[in-house]
Amino acid sequence: MGQNAIDRLITLFSKLPGIGKKSAGRIVYHILDSSPVLAETLSKELSGFHQAIKRCGVCGGFTEADPCAVCSNPARDKTIICVVETAQDMRIIEEGREFAGVYHVLGGLIAPLEGVSPANLSIDKLINRLRSNTVKEIILALNPTVEGDTTALYLQKTLKEYPVDVYRLASGMPVGGNIEYIDKLTLSRSFRGKVKV
Ligand SMILES: [Zn+2]
Repeated sequence: MGQNAIDRLITLFSKLPGIGKKSAGRIVYHILDSSPVLAETLSKELSGFHQAIKRCGVCGGFTEADPCAVCSNPARDKTIICVVETAQDMRIIEEGREFAGVYHVLGGLIAPLEGVSPANLSIDKLINRLRSNTVKEIILALNPTVEGDTTALYLQKTLKEYPVDVYRLASGMPVGGNIEYIDKLTLSRSFRGKVKV
């Protein structure tokens, strides 16, 4: 049996994280059963997606307008920067509605075995943001993994030269866990109980 459009689409969807062949099949047949408007809207949004979204020049988060909605919001506390690994982590913390400061997206974690050194991350940009002397507090919201801890220690050491207080999120974060999988309540608690380092 040759590959038809259904097979091709199932193969495509199963390349997405967390979607196996079975789920991909469910999605594809759901689209077929739905109004053509769904498929058209999906394809329209996806085709211009990479062009529509850029990196915020300030924090590095994904955004349609630069600077992003958080960085350009006068109500956000610019004296507190929450450092996260990915733009997705930033979104998860935003959804928790606990944090009123601004963000800095590192774009990864230090992982010598995978060839990721501090120079590969947006640490210089973070330091530049500190030069304005308006930042008083840095909260490291990094996953409690080996790479997360290595990166946090490196940042703690680097940030010692600057007049900022550095915090890590309180326990409640499962060891070896991922911010992505923490429920909102736990995330809120870990912000309220942040620990100075
Ligand atoms: Zn931003």
